[in-house]
Parts: sequence; structure tokens; C-alpha cells
Amino acid sequence: MQPLTDAFGRVATDLRVSLTDRCNLRCTYCMPPEGLDWLPQEQQLTDDEVVRLIGVAVERLGVREVRFTGGEPLVRRGLVDIVRRTAALEPRPETSLTTNALGLARTAQALKDAGLDRVNVSLDTIRSDTFHEITRRDRFADVVTGLEAARAAGLGPVKVNAVLLRGVNDDQAPELLDWCLERGYELRFIEQMPLDAQHGWRRDEMVTADEIMAALEEHHVLVPALEPRGSAPAELFLVDGGPATVGIIASVTRPFCGTCDRVRLTADGQVRNCLFAREESDLRTPMRAGAGDAELAERWLAAMAAKKPGHGIDDPSFLQPDRPMSAIGG
Ligand code: SAM
Repeated sequence: MQPLTDAFGRVATDLRVSLTDRCNLRCTYCMPPEGLDWLPQEQQLTDDEVVRLIGVAVERLGVREVRFTGGEPLVRRGLVDIVRRTAALEPRPETSLTTNALGLARTAQALKDAGLDRVNVSLDTIRSDTFHEITRRDRFADVVTGLEAARAAGLGPVKVNAVLLRGVNDDQAPELLDWCLERGYELRFIEQMPLDAQHGWRRDEMVTADEIMAALEEHHVLVPALEPRGSAPAELFLVDGGPATVGIIASVTRPFCGTCDRVRLTADGQVRNCLFAREESDLRTPMRAGAGDAELAERWLAAMAAKKPGHGIDDPSFLQPDRPMSAIGG
């Protein structure tokens, strides 16, 4: 076993696997209304190929947590089977899913039975008109049902991830928090990042972590949670004395690259050592050319060794990666 160590001593143990670049929502901060040029089928890893690469990461490279994402992972037909085969790896990794929850009501129990541990559901508003405005789809009720099904299936603690957009839902943080508190979902706000396909992100427009805190503190007492943050991206706060918490992921204004333990695999078999990396390392081509697991592991190690100290969003020379969030895997 050789850990995925970089030149700055960080060790990646948390693998984010994008299972597809396709999505059934069109969130304005992620994709244009017409969608994107999806990956051709032959470039996408097959179920066997995905499971094989996850196996290399878990069995040879010390990965302990596997999070499935996309695009929208629930639109991948083989998802339940991929989860089952991942959960059967030794040592068994923790498994989770980041999803918009459309259709989760149908699959939550099957995912749990296959060995999925937890879900993170993306939901930016509890108003169905705002939901429609952000996602360009009228599916708020489906997300609510999906969340309930996840909890009923035991895929908890269920986390809700929200992005606030200036002039759209930036006044809705407190009501979103109250809604999640009432239902026992753990809410985390994520600062909007420069990862949209349309390159529409503007630093002076994004809603900052400080603004979100200030809005929440008008209604609740927030005290930093005592549990050590470790490599978790969210800063956690006890709400009104706890035990409920709310999290803030300040990727832009308070980056946490120094404790990053993440590595990403795209749906077409590219390793990315950072969400904002401009380079990728191709594992699909050597794998299809017959490379063995030891060679794939070597290539993966080399990709991680080149990880930069930080993503540099705050640097004036920052360049947005060529691929948008939906293609990298959020
Ligand atoms: N479709 C799944 C979902 O909705 O969770 C997984 C993929 S989605 C790209 C993962 C997360 O990225 C979502 O919570 C979404 O809100 C977030 N996201 C997308 N674009 C973003 C951006 N530019 N800045 C911050 N978060 C973003």
C-alpha cells in the first residue's frame, strides 16, 4: 500500500468519482440552459472500468472514502451495482453520494442495501418558484420526496448543500436553515466558485461566508463546534447551543487547501489532483491499452505528487479550469 502523498505532505484518502457529466437540472451557476456537449459514450468509463480504478485507489493507494458525484450520479444506470462492488472492496471504504435527489425516492433503499452509507443533497432554496428559477426545472417537490426517502432508508446523517446567488436566493439562508433543522438535515452553505461552464462567476457578486454568517446570526446564535475540523471543508457551528449544526464551506474567501485530502476521478477516467487543476492525468488510455493495476497505481501516484499547494482563486493570475464542475465532479 502506497499512500497518495503530494510534495507538501498532504495525503489523499477521499476519492470523488464522477459517474457521468450529464444532469437533469440546469442550475444557472453550473450549466447553460441547453446543457453541454456530453461525453461520447465510448469515452466514458464502463462500470467495470470505474470499479477497477476505485479498487486500485482503495486496495493499493490508501483511499478510505469514496463519494459518487457527477453530473448527476442518479442518472447513471449502473449506479447501484457500482456502489455494491465498491462497498465490497477490502478494506471497505466509506461510501456516499452527492445528488440533486431527483429519483432518489425510487432508489434510496436499493442504494442503502447495496452498501451506500450517506447522501449529500443539493438544494439551494425551499421556495418552488426560486427552485425553478435556479435549476430551470419545476422539480422542488421531487427533491423533498427524495430527501425524505434518503432519511427513511437510513442514509444519514442527510446533508443538504446550498449555494447562495446574489439577488436570487441570498435572502433565504435563515429559512433554509430552519427548514433543515425541523427535518434533521445538516445544512452546509458553499460559496459559489468559478467553475461554471459559461464563465459567469464574478468575485464581486458572490455571496461570501461572512455575509451568510451575518444573515444566520440575525436569527440564531452560532458558536464554533468543538469537534476538530480535520480535512473537512465545512466550518461547523452549533446552532442555538446544539446539538444541531450548520456548516459553511468558504472555498473562495477562506480556502482550506493546506488540509485537503481529496482526489478526483472524472467520468472519462482522468485523475484530477484538485477541483481547480488545469492538468489531468489520463488513466483510461493506459487501462484500455492493457496496463496492469500496478502501473495504474504508479500513474495515479505521479498525478498526486504534482498537486499544487493551493488552488489560487485569490491570485490575480487565477485561470478557471477548462472543464466545468459538472464534468469534473463536484
Ligand atoms: N448533481 C449532483 C448534485 O446536484 O449534487 C452532483 C454534482 S453537482 C456539480 C455538486 C455540487 O456542486 C452541487 O451541490 C452544486 O450546487 C455545486 N456546484 C455546482 N457549481 C458550483 C459552483 N460554481 N460553485 C459552487 N458550487 C457549485
